[in-house]
Amino acid sequence: MEEPLPPLAFARAAVFGRCPRCGQGRIFCGMLTLCERCPVCGLDLTRHDVGDGAAFAAIFILGPIIVIAALIVEFTYSPPLWLHILLWPVVTVVLAVLFMRPSKSILLALQYRYRQSGSSP
Ligand SMILES: [Zn+2]
Repeated sequence: MEEPLPPLAFARAAVFGRCPRCGQGRIFCGMLTLCERCPVCGLDLTRHDVGDGAAFAAIFILGPIIVIAALIVEFTYSPPLWLHILLWPVVTVVLAVLFMRPSKSILLALQYRYRQSGSSP
């Protein structure tokens, strides 16, 4: 049985997209694509499927933030409708991509940590 990462190193690995076992290897091979294995310790990352969890979190956390920001902009500056139509889709996509990466990383790290001690296969 290997030594688990200390809590602070584990949290840092989770937030910054590092391997939850060694804390060194990058877990992303693309913008949002998880690698199959950690390049440093060889941890099989395909066993920890985060599914739609990150997208679900992005929708439920970013959705209200975007709506509140749009309302604040509307009531403060009263911009024309075309500006809302151009602005908010771009802001939403950019924030969603920025949010998804740490969200996926955190979910994968939590799955790794709790499946180690749980009874699931
Ligand atoms: Zn690793």
